[in-house]
Amino acid sequence: MKIIETTDISKRYVMGSEVIQALKSVTISVNKGEYVAFMGPSGSGKSTLMNIIGCLDTPTNGRYILNNKDVSDMTESELAEIRNKEIGFVFQTFNLLPRMSSLDNVALPLIYAGLNKADRTEKAMLSLKNVGLENRAGHKPNELSGGQRQRVAIARALVNDPSILLADEPTGNLDSKTSYEIMDLFDQLYSKGNTIVMVTHEEDIAHYAHRIVRLRDGLVESDTINPNPTKVT
Ligand code: ADP
Ligand code: ADP
Repeated sequence: MKIIETTDISKRYVMGSEVIQALKSVTISVNKGEYVAFMGPSGSGKSTLMNIIGCLDTPTNGRYILNNKDVSDMTESELAEIRNKEIGFVFQTFNLLPRMSSLDNVALPLIYAGLNKADRTEKAMLSLKNVGLENRAGHKPNELSGGQRQRVAIARALVNDPSILLADEPTGNLDSKTSYEIMDLFDQLYSKGNTIVMVTHEEDIAHYAHRIVRLRDGLVESDTINPNPTKVT
């Protein structure tokens, strides 16, 4: 089943007299349960494509179908609603609220989803357990290691059961040992059936994914199954 389907999407930025064609024509589909890495040099259009896939922005031309809904021409508020429901975001900077415990950070999206306190706590605990951090529920971000912070951010991203986990340079702020810990977690999440779309410029990180899409100058340069994904041992 297709979760992501883009058809000939392009994105043009106009800045004064300068026109930048960040994406030229990108046609790509991702099935439920896939684990894909988007790679490419700086300026190749990775962030632009991620922003569109994550419903943070819309394409200039072309169609984007997300989980059977055409989001190409949605308004900002429609996009926000789809985003909350369908996408779990993970960034290199974690973006946790410093004064809140892990549990409260993870429970935050459930407030917007309208759940009562008891249900929020229960779901957030489950999500923390899912990333192996149930014993850090009461810790604040500054009482956690970088890898643990990222795991809290992943628990928060997944607490609403989104269709896609969208990770933009998820290991960008982590040392290599901690990066492998996060890749190990992604492997487990993949095994449980989560759909993972990751953007990275690091070749060794991309090789944990089961499919690698390479962008260059706003076009898909290659799109291949990774026959031998790296395993954390
Ligand atoms: P990558 O993530 O692969 O580095 P980007 O998608 O960020 O690539 O950028 C692709 C091109 O679009 C670059 O030339 C970049 O400078 C330009 N660009 C990206 N975002 C904007 C924006 N908001 N406004 C204008 N130009 C942008
Ligand atoms: P990354 O590739 O690490 O995700 P960014 O998306 O922040 O980096 O930026 C990629 C390129 O896009 C940079 O060259 C940056 O200058 C350009 N860019 C990003 N956002 C804008 C913007 N709002 N206006 C102009 N250029 C932008």
